[in-house]
Amino acid sequence: MEAKSRKSACSTTAQGKGFSYCLSESEAGSDASALKTKAERKGDGWVINGSKKWISNAGESEFYTVIAQTDPSLGSKGITAFVLEKSDAGVSFGAPEKKMGFRGSPTREVYFDNVEIGDDRRISEVGKGFALAMDTLDHTRITIAAQALGIAQGALDFAKKYSHERKQFGKEIFDFQGVQFMLADMAIAVETARQITYAAAAKSERLDKDLKFFSATSKTYATDVAMKVTTDAVQILGGYGYVSDYPVERMMRDAKLTQIYEGTNQIQRIVIARNLP
Ligand SMILES: Cc1cc2nc3c(=O)[nH]c(=O)nc-3n(C[C@H](O)[C@H](O)[C@H](O)COP(=O)(O)OP(=O)(O)OC[C@H]3O[C@@H](n4cnc5c(N)ncnc54)[C@H](O)[C@@H]3O)c2cc1C
Repeated sequence: MEAKSRKSACSTTAQGKGFSYCLSESEAGSDASALKTKAERKGDGWVINGSKKWISNAGESEFYTVIAQTDPSLGSKGITAFVLEKSDAGVSFGAPEKKMGFRGSPTREVYFDNVEIGDDRRISEVGKGFALAMDTLDHTRITIAAQALGIAQGALDFAKKYSHERKQFGKEIFDFQGVQFMLADMAIAVETARQITYAAAAKSERLDKDLKFFSATSKTYATDVAMKVTTDAVQILGGYGYVSDYPVERMMRDAKLTQIYEGTNQIQRIVIARNLP
C-alpha cells in the first residue's frame, strides 16, 4: 500500500488533549510481548502498520502511545514506543465495543495503515519499549486501584444509606445483624483497600524499590474488593439492587472491568509472586 504523507513532531500541544495507551492486540493480551504491530525504518523516520485492540478512549484522544515491534528476531527486546496522532494519515478506528460496563468511556480498535512518522515521535530507546511499557504499568495500575476504591466506596455509601431507609418486618433493614455484618465486612475491605492504594501511590511518587509489589498488590486487592463490595451492595438492596433505577448494578458491572484491564488479576498475582518482599 502506498505510504501516507509523513508528519513529524506532534502538530498539536498535549495540553487538554487525551492520550490513549496502545499496548494490547487481538492476539497479544496477557502475553503483551507477542504484539505484531510493526514499526519499520524508512529513511530517518518510521512506517507503522498493524492494529491495537481494546483501546480506551480511542477516537476521542488526540494522542496514542503505540508499542510496536521494531525487530521481531529480538522478541521483547525488539520493541519500541512511539507517539501517534489521531490526525496522522493512516490512523483509523473501529466501532465502539458493546460492553458490560464502563460505557462512559469508549473502547475501540485502532488501525495503522502505513503511518509515516519522524524519529522525533519515538519515545523510548530502540528496543527498550517493552521495558518502558512494563515500568509505566507499575504506576498506572495504582490508578486502577484508585478507580476500584472509588466504585467500592460509592457502593458502600449507597448500601448504608439504603439500609436505613428500607423497612421490612417493621424496622430498618440496618437493624438486622445479617445486614450489619455485611456492611461491616464491606467497610473493613474498603478501608484496607484505601490504605494499600495510598501506600502504593506514595511509593510511585518516591520510586521505591518495592513499587512493583505494592502496585500489583494494590490493583489486585482493591479491584477484588470492588467486585465483592458492589455484589454485596446489590444484595443489600435486594430486587431494587438488580435494576438500573439504582446505581449499584452499574457499579457491579464497572467493578468487573477493574479485575481485567491493566493486566488481569491472575497476571498481577504472577507479578506479586515474582516480587515478594
Ligand atoms: C474495556 C477495556 C478497556 C481496555 N483498555 C485498554 C487500553 O486502553 N490499552 C490497552 O493496551 N489495553 C486495554 N485493554 C486490554 C486489557 O488490558 C486486556 O483485555 C487484558 O490485559 C487481558 O488480555 P486478554 O483480554 O487478551 O485476555 P487473555 O490474555 O486472553 O486472558 C484470558 C484469561 O486467561 C488468563 N491468563 C492468561 N495468561 C495467564 C497466565 N500466564 N497465568 C494465569 N492466567 C492467565 C487471564 O487472567 C484471563 O483470565 C482493555 C480491555 C477492556 C476490556
